[in-house]
Amino acid sequence: MIRVTTFAGRRVAVFGLGSSGLATVRALEAGGADVAAWDDGEASRDAAVKAGVSLVDLRAADWSAFAALVLAPGVPLTHPEPHWTVGKARAAGIEVIGDIELFCRERRKLCPTSPFIAITGTNGKSTTTALLAHLLRRAGRDVQMGGNIGTAILSLDPPAPHVHHIVEMSSFQIDLTPSLDPTVGVLLNLSPDHLDRHGPADDADLAMRNYAAIKERLVAASQAVCIGIEDDWCRAIFGRLQAAGRRIYPFAVQNDAGASPAIYAEGSRILAHAPGATHDVEIASVAGVGTLRGRHNVQNAMAAIAAISALQDCRGGGSLEDLRGMAAALPAYPGLPHRMEEVGRAGKVLFINDSKATNADSTEKALASWPRDIFWILGGKPKEGGIAPLAAYFPRIAKAYLIGYASDAFAATLEGRVPFERCSTLDVALARAAEDAAASPGAEPVVLLSPACASYDQFRSFEHRGNVFRDLVIAREGVASARDGGPP
Ligand code: ADP
Repeated sequence: MIRVTTFAGRRVAVFGLGSSGLATVRALEAGGADVAAWDDGEASRDAAVKAGVSLVDLRAADWSAFAALVLAPGVPLTHPEPHWTVGKARAAGIEVIGDIELFCRERRKLCPTSPFIAITGTNGKSTTTALLAHLLRRAGRDVQMGGNIGTAILSLDPPAPHVHHIVEMSSFQIDLTPSLDPTVGVLLNLSPDHLDRHGPADDADLAMRNYAAIKERLVAASQAVCIGIEDDWCRAIFGRLQAAGRRIYPFAVQNDAGASPAIYAEGSRILAHAPGATHDVEIASVAGVGTLRGRHNVQNAMAAIAAISALQDCRGGGSLEDLRGMAAALPAYPGLPHRMEEVGRAGKVLFINDSKATNADSTEKALASWPRDIFWILGGKPKEGGIAPLAAYFPRIAKAYLIGYASDAFAATLEGRVPFERCSTLDVALARAAEDAAASPGAEPVVLLSPACASYDQFRSFEHRGNVFRDLVIAREGVASARDGGPP
C-alpha cells in the first residue's frame, strides 16, 4: 500500500466506496489524514463498514472542514451533471481530485524520478498496459501494474527508484488528476466514447473535443510521449506536441501515417526507425501469437514497444538490440481474460471468449481475426446501431447463435444474409455452436463469444458473462482447456 502523507493532519472527504475508494480511505488514514467516507449506494456503504471503514454522511457534513474531495472515477464530475458532492466541494472552495492525483503527489515527495508509465486511449488500454507490464517483468524489472486495470493504484507498492508503475488511465481518471506527470505517457487512439460524460447531450462535437482534450493532457504532461498517429484526433495532438519540441515516439502502420513513425508495422512485423540509422530494425513480430490476434493488437504491441524505447531514453539510453531483447517475450504474453481469450480446444474447434466486446466496434476486431468458419454467439442488451455496421464480415460467419434481449433486432439484420438460430441463453448457444463447429467441414472452425452487446439483461457484467462461458466450455467433454496447457 502507498501511504498518502500529503493530507496528514487534515480532513478529507472520500466519495465512492468501490475497491479504489476503499484503498483511498486506507491510504489516506495510514498517512495521517482524517477521512470522511461516503457512498450513495447502501450496498457499497454496507461493504465499506464490513471492511472496517467508518462512514460520515457527507450530505450533512461541514464541508468547510475538508481540505479536498477525493472522488471515485465512476462518479460524474461534469456531465451529464456534476454529482452533488462536486457541487458541495465547489461551494466550499476545495479541490476535487482522484486517487491517481494522490499517487502523483506522493511520488513527487518520495521519488520523482521513479519510472511511471501512464497509458490511455479509447481502445486497447488494458491490453497495452498488461503487455507492457509483461515485457518489463520478463526483463526482470520490478513492476507495479494498476489504475483502471486490476489493482487500485494506492494498493500498489510505493514509488522507489527501480519500481515501475504501469498505470492504465480512463478519461475520468485523467480529469481527476490535475498534476499528472508520468515519465512516459502513452496515447493509443481516439474515437467517440462516453460522450455523455464529457459534454452536453445535444452537442456531440463539443463532447468529443472535451474528451480529446482530457486525453491530450496525459501526454502533454509527460516527460516522453508515445502516440498512435492513425486517427485525425491523435494526429492533431501529435502535431501540437511536435511543434512544442517535445520528445515523441509516434507509432503507426507504415504509410498510414503522415509523419515518419519511430515504431511502425509491416503486416505483423514491428520495426523501429532510429534517427540517423541507415536501415530500420525489426523489433518483434506478432505473427502466430494467439493472444495478440488482429490488426488492433499490432497497434497495442507497437505502443508497448514504443513505451519501452521511450523509457530507455528517459533513463539513460538503451540500444535497439536491448529493445529487441525485451520484445522477445512478446509471444509469451498470456493475454487478458474476456478479450479474445483462448479458452480451449476440442479437436479442430477453437473456443474464444471475447465477452468484453460490448459494442459492434469491438466485435468487428474479433470477426476480422478469422477469415472464415466463425460460429458466432452474440446478443444481450444491444447498443445503438446494433450489428448493421458488421455486415462486411457476414461472409466469414458460418452461423450465428442469438441470445438475450437483442435477439429480435439481430435476427432482422441477419435475415437472408447469415444462417442463425435463436438460442435464448448462453448454455444453449454454446452447445449448438460447438456441435455445428465440430461437424463443419472447415479446417479450423472457431466458436466465438463476441456479443456486441452489454451483458446486463442476463449477467451481472461482461466478466460474469465471460466466466460463465469459460466454465461451460471447459465442462464440455473433449475440451482441452487453454489454462491446463499454460498460456495459450
Ligand atoms: P480498453 O482497456 O481500452 O477497453 P482492451 O485492451 O480491454 O481496451 O480491449 C477491449 C476491446 O477493444 C478488444 O476486445 C478489442 O475489440 C478492442 N481493441 C483493443 N485494442 C484496440 C486498438 N488498439 N484499437 C481498436 N480497438 C481495440
